[in-house]
Amino acid sequence: MTTRRDFLQKLTATAISFPFTAHAIQPKSIAVAEPYQGPVLRVAIMGLGSYANRVAEAMRDCKKAAITGVISGTPSKIKDWQGKYNIPEKNCYNYDNFDRIKDNKDIDAVYIITPNALHHPQCLRVAAAGKHVICEKPMAVNAREGQEMVDACKKARVKLLIGYRMHFEAKTLEVLRMRNAGELGKVLFFEGHSGFQIGNPNQWRMNKALSGGGAMMDIGIYSVNGARYMIGEEPIWVTAQETKTDPVKFKEGIDETILFQFGFPSGAVASCLSTYSMNYLDRFFLNGEKGYAMLQPATGYGPIEGRSHKGEFKHPHITHQTTQMDEMAEIILNNKKPVVPVDGEEGLKDMKIIDAIYEAVRSGKRIDLRL
Ligand code: NDP
Repeated sequence: MTTRRDFLQKLTATAISFPFTAHAIQPKSIAVAEPYQGPVLRVAIMGLGSYANRVAEAMRDCKKAAITGVISGTPSKIKDWQGKYNIPEKNCYNYDNFDRIKDNKDIDAVYIITPNALHHPQCLRVAAAGKHVICEKPMAVNAREGQEMVDACKKARVKLLIGYRMHFEAKTLEVLRMRNAGELGKVLFFEGHSGFQIGNPNQWRMNKALSGGGAMMDIGIYSVNGARYMIGEEPIWVTAQETKTDPVKFKEGIDETILFQFGFPSGAVASCLSTYSMNYLDRFFLNGEKGYAMLQPATGYGPIEGRSHKGEFKHPHITHQTTQMDEMAEIILNNKKPVVPVDGEEGLKDMKIIDAIYEAVRSGKRIDLRL
């Protein structure tokens, strides 16, 4: 751990410009908040693909988290990131040698942003190196792996967080505030639609060995997770049905479309759709005895839009990954408790539910859940 002051001094000493310094060039006439002087979470990003690039750009605006290292199998990407984010050579690793991160005092946490099936082995190695783990969703490809990740991080006394960026999003949190304040009355029903038309059939998302499954692992998980935080309970049963219109594109083990339903202890129910073959499906709807709330888009990169029976939500859009990483820094460095958990146990619940959804599809039966 380091403070922001130490961090900036170090960077100044090495004559490297850094986006944080933008605060210093605000015109004097504009009142600006005191620059943040607290601790900064120093993060190494593992897997420099499409989402990692989005996270890295968003982290330019973080106050409490900064990129200090990279782990990649592609030397040209490492060079590019070194230039873009001022990463010294000694903080660059590949997949063969990243266990050495153990001895690197400039890195507090590793953010794993690789294909799903790699999360489990990579998490175990990062934990063994004594670094905190932030891992993209789905945390693993099944609950057994997820449990092993939780256990490994516990044993190594490091934190494990899952990249659930919506847990920090303002309009999402407004729905939860309304629900908790009783403004919706008794919650009765959630509907979640999560899907998009996937393109290139040769990408890793369409290869079960790397993805662990199809749309459910990738996008359906948003409705699985959303049903839980919107209703505010854990489901006790699940039923599910699969349809496949293109078995050539969506091979064995790659689900194209799954409809699934949950029952909750209070009697509330949920009805959800996960698909890789329909666009414009990003919608959450929560219904209660006294009112409703809806978000559409609900989980895209934003701006999220929504309303309740009381009117439109007008919270300003902030890049999700900027808020997520600042909040995750607080969770790791200061033990802050988020409104909705983002820890390994939270990710594990989704993996248990997804295992049960696949089991319900296979068996055609209602599967009871104990989370
Ligand atoms: P990409 O394919 O764009 O990037 C994955 C990166 O992982 C690659 O660029 C590569 O980086 C590295 N990698 C290591 N081994 C392999 C391999 N065998 N095959 C392919 N890539 C490999 O994927 P995304 O960035 O879209 O997704 C990565 C993870 O992030 C997934 O788990 C996904 O679910 C999650 N995600 C989360 C989102 C969110 O909103 N929370 C949004 C999008 C994705 P390198 O060359 O540096 O080794």
